[in-house]
Formats: sequence, structure tokens, C-alpha cells
Amino acid sequence: MSKPNTVGELKSAGYTSVSVKDEMRANLIRKIGEGSPLFPGIIGFDDSVIPQIVNAILSRHNFILLGLRGQAKSRILRSLVTLLDDEVPIIAGCEINDNPLQPLCRACHQKLEELGDATPLDYLRAEQRYVEKLATPDVTIADIIGDLDPIKAARGGHALSSELTIHYGLLPRANRGIFAINELPDLAGKIQVGLFNIMQEGDVQIKGYPVRLPLDVELVFTANPEDYTARGKIITPLKDRLGSEIRTHYPDTLEHAMAITAQEAWTERNGAGRQIIAPFIREVIESVAFEARQDKRVDKRSGVSQRMPITCLENVISSAEYRALKNRENKIVPRPSDIYSALPSLTGKVELEYEGEVRGADNVAREIIRQATAKVFKKYFDNVPLHSVVQWFELGGTLKYSPGASTDELYAQLKNIQGLLEKAQTLGIKAKDDPALLVAGGEFILEGLYALKRISRNEELGFHVESRRAERTEEEPSPLGQRRRPLN
Ligand SMILES: [Zn+2]
Repeated sequence: MSKPNTVGELKSAGYTSVSVKDEMRANLIRKIGEGSPLFPGIIGFDDSVIPQIVNAILSRHNFILLGLRGQAKSRILRSLVTLLDDEVPIIAGCEINDNPLQPLCRACHQKLEELGDATPLDYLRAEQRYVEKLATPDVTIADIIGDLDPIKAARGGHALSSELTIHYGLLPRANRGIFAINELPDLAGKIQVGLFNIMQEGDVQIKGYPVRLPLDVELVFTANPEDYTARGKIITPLKDRLGSEIRTHYPDTLEHAMAITAQEAWTERNGAGRQIIAPFIREVIESVAFEARQDKRVDKRSGVSQRMPITCLENVISSAEYRALKNRENKIVPRPSDIYSALPSLTGKVELEYEGEVRGADNVAREIIRQATAKVFKKYFDNVPLHSVVQWFELGGTLKYSPGASTDELYAQLKNIQGLLEKAQTLGIKAKDDPALLVAGGEFILEGLYALKRISRNEELGFHVESRRAERTEEEPSPLGQRRRPLN
């Protein structure tokens, strides 16, 4: 059966118009009944955020997501599109997607008078019914709601307040769909008033002229919780009209966080299967974000985005890719030192408190990587004796190498440290695995011992153990750049 092409055909097909909120509600109810996933790709919110969103939609509420940056707020809002019908009919050519049975705009009314049931239809797909705007202080009423166009009025001989002279803004263009505004508190007060008037009365004033716009829109917003609750940032009547206020959060568990990072990060470099990323590498990267969120030198109010471990993982793989290219190695296998090479993906994503500023972003990031390494290392090696490795350094052994050292070169050096590479078994790495993976495991053990302060590391000596006399001097964490070969 073909789709109705005119208003008349639509009527005889028995079409009844439904508001966006009822449409979303009906589709949600159907999905729950079918047991199908409600928000695919949204990980870790099953018991917290998602039930609240379901409630809001069942209640036909406009709602706001309150959360720090990188908590998947925009992603959740975009996924609301999956609750819209595949397509809806509109009057062809209408700027505000008018419902063929209940048009709002004057142009459509005129068209219906002229053509009657022969008025042609068009169809909108679900994705076309989602409009998103990032609020900034310079956004105007004209951008969001619309403007009166004196030239259009003069040309058509219309009165200035006639709806034919309106140049519609984003909100009317989102009619019969979802309109999302990110960072709502950054929107000027008078635009918030305009939004409120449309939600409340369906009326709005443009340049002092009253314009009737009873739009059919699901309004959704995001905001940083502190901005939202700050006095004066949101006009009270607008706050009052938001049916639900839903708090988002960072992943509660390392497993959820790693699943998000794995889903979002670009890891498949040319030639799938060329890269081997050891689980401990992923765990340290993810723990960096967890540690940073708890670190008192990092500003809690702006948070640490989940984008941080995502870009960090991408950078870590690239660092390994670069090394593989230079050494003409086939496999791309990240080592713990690649996490230090990924500092540029970390430092821009944390706002530091005064104490952190004084310490310097790079130093803070290195210390956080070290803490994260310690945490993951303890998980694997808590009951594993590593005396023999520590002893090798206590007897005067030192290990220094370039982060670009080839697998063969580093393997030859790590092999000399008694018992080191065998201990990589604890990480699930077997002797017959790719040597590059063994090397990464060996380096992780050394990094772990360094993170727990059982051995030291500095620019001059690389990994070593301080002699008794020198022990009091606190060594600086350094890039793995310049390590010396072992003395033996
Ligand atoms: Zn219209």
C-alpha cells in the first residue's frame, strides 16, 4: 500500500494526529512490552538514569539532564529519536512541519483553503525531527523563536505581525519533534521567558508583537548541576515547567567505564587485528579517569569527562603505532610507557585547583598515571612475590631505554632481569605469545614496582634502586625517554 500523497488521501486512510509526547509514550510502551533495549549504547545507567527518563516520558514531561561534562547527556537526548515514529506526514513545503489535520501557520491555512483535500503531503523521518542547539550568551530570540521580516511583509502586503512575515527560528522548526538545548543556564533570561511562554501558553512576543504558536514539541535540556542551581541563572517559572530533573553520573564501575571507552574509541587501525591491547593497559587508562575524579588537585565542579580515557586510549594506540612503523614491526602493541606519551590527551581535559596549577598539569597527570598504575598493579600482583626482580636492581642493576625501542631490543634487556618476563604470566601472558606483548607485560611490572616505590626511576638512571645514602632525595617522575642500559 502506498503512502497517502494528499490531505484527502490521508483522511480516508483514517490518520489521526497524535502529539509528540503521546507518540513517544506509545513507542516507549511498545518497546517495554517487547523487552527490546530502550537506549542502545548507553552503558551503566540501567538502574539509575534510564528508569528516570522512562518515567519522564511516560509522564509526558519536558525534562532536563543535570550532569558534569562527558556523562553522555547529549548522547541520551539524541537517542530519544528512537522513540519517534519512522515517519510522519506534514503539509508539503511547510517551514514548521505542520500537521496536515491541524496546521498552525498561516501559509498552510491558505493552502488548505485553496487546494482543499488535494493539498500535497511530505514526510519527515525520525532523524529529521530532532533539533539541537548549544546555548551561549549570544543566542538571540531570533535564533530560537524567530523574527519578523519587514521586507517579506512589504513585498506581500502583510501587516508586520502577520504570521506570514515571520522568519521562524529553531524551535518552531522543531515543531512535531524534539528540541534539545544544551547548557540551558547559558541562555539569556529573555529567551528563557520566551521558551516558558511557548511551553505554557503557546504564545510568544516577537519585537513586541504577540504571535500565537501552539507548538507540538518535546523540550529537553542539559545543564551542569552547579550552574542550574545557581541563583538567577534559570528563571523560576521555566524551572517550574520542567517536569523532571534527572541527574546523570560517571560510570560506577571500571567494567562499565571500559565498555564505554571500548565502544567509543577508534582502535581498529588499518589492518584489523594488527593491534593487541593488553587488558592491563585498558585498566590503567580507565583508572586514570577514576583517580583524576577523586584527586583533590582536580576541580570537582567541572568533572573529568569520559572522553578523557577515550582520547587517551586512541593516543596510546597511536604511540604504539608510531613505534611499530619506525621499527618496521607488524604488530601494534601498547606498553605502559605509551600512557605517559599520551599526556596531551589528558592534560586538556582536567581543570586544576590552585594546588594542581602550582604543581603543573603535566606533573599532576604523571602522578595520576602512577597512582592508577599502582591500583591496577596491586590487583594483579598483590600476592605474587617479586623479590627477585627488586633484588636485581638492589644489586646495582639499572635499566634505561628509549620509548621507541623495538620489541627485540627491549626483549633482550628485560630477559636479563631475573624472573621478570616469567611473572608476565600473572597478567595472562604466555611465553608463546607475541614477544611484543611479553615486553609490554615486563614493562608493566617495572612500572608497577615503581608506582609502589619498591624501585625508583629517573632520567639519569632509568629504573634503579637508590643506594642507602641517596635514599632521602625524592626523585622526579620523568618521561621514559632516556634510560640507561643495565650495568651487567
Ligand atoms: Zn505550515
